[in-house]
Amino acid sequence: MLQIHGISKVYKTGMFGRGALRAVDDVSFEVRPGEVVSLIGESGSGKSTIGKMILRLTPVTDGSIAYDGSDIALVKGRALRGYYRSVQGVFQDPFSSYNPIFKADRVLSMVKAEYFPGVSTADWRRKIEESLHAVSLNPPDVLGKYPHQLSGGQLQRLLIARALLLDIKILVADEVISMLDASTRIDVLNLLGDLKKQGLGILLITHDLALGNYISDSAVILRHGRIVERGATAKVFDDPRHPYTQALLASVPRLDEKWSDSAPPGREAFDADDAVGPLVQVGTDHFVAGAA
Ligand code: ADP
Ligand code: MG
Repeated sequence: MLQIHGISKVYKTGMFGRGALRAVDDVSFEVRPGEVVSLIGESGSGKSTIGKMILRLTPVTDGSIAYDGSDIALVKGRALRGYYRSVQGVFQDPFSSYNPIFKADRVLSMVKAEYFPGVSTADWRRKIEESLHAVSLNPPDVLGKYPHQLSGGQLQRLLIARALLLDIKILVADEVISMLDASTRIDVLNLLGDLKKQGLGILLITHDLALGNYISDSAVILRHGRIVERGATAKVFDDPRHPYTQALLASVPRLDEKWSDSAPPGREAFDADDAVGPLVQVGTDHFVAGAA
């Protein structure tokens, strides 16, 4: 289980690093095996920063992240490799994760070199075929192909297959759907749903409210780096208590409509400078930020 305890991130800004930007402020939630948690917020609300801290791509400024009870900030060397065998990320733009001059399946062979050098070629082939089948890819369709010969959906699935080779327990999926066309989006979402049934814990990072509602068990609504509301998805979506969540939901009239990244509707309905205070429990598995 992944436990996030009051994490904050302050980026130094400005030419001499004298400015400071609090991108994430006192955020806490958990991701359990077999559970999808959607982390929902407008562009710039700090979602990717949270994902990067979980993946140890950037350190936390305050607070801590524990995996199976151990603080990940203290994990080093072999243990860090062990952490990455359990927790992996997949990001928005599948094309940027591939080097165009190498065949796409190099992302899989690199896993062997790094984590399974002793596994025989035959066993490795079997493992690859299993992980490709798990993401509904037909091995001959993707093995030996260059990135430009594959679709965005195939490349995204291949990255998920790569994560599965490691037998991960938690997947951080940062806007993995946004770059895909409509038909592929549903396929990848359904794939995440299947992986969840098999026990994978998923942190689904998205700016798209409808996506957050589609497969998640819990929802975390982020605004300016702070949680405004979190809890069971059914509660947050059916009985939103924070005016910001209410404004967001009121502005999503249709599930198939994309919530525009640049001009999120509903923002004007909510006072932009409303301070967000500590979370108050309003029901079983339902927390709402009070006034600061
Ligand atoms: P989101 O993923 O929700 O769009 P991010 O986590 O990418 O948000 O960014 C949150 C805030 O932190 C934004 O204001 C962004 O400009 C800022 N930010 C992100 N990365 C850095 C960085 N490396 N240095 C300085 N500021 C950053
Ligand atoms: Mg982001």
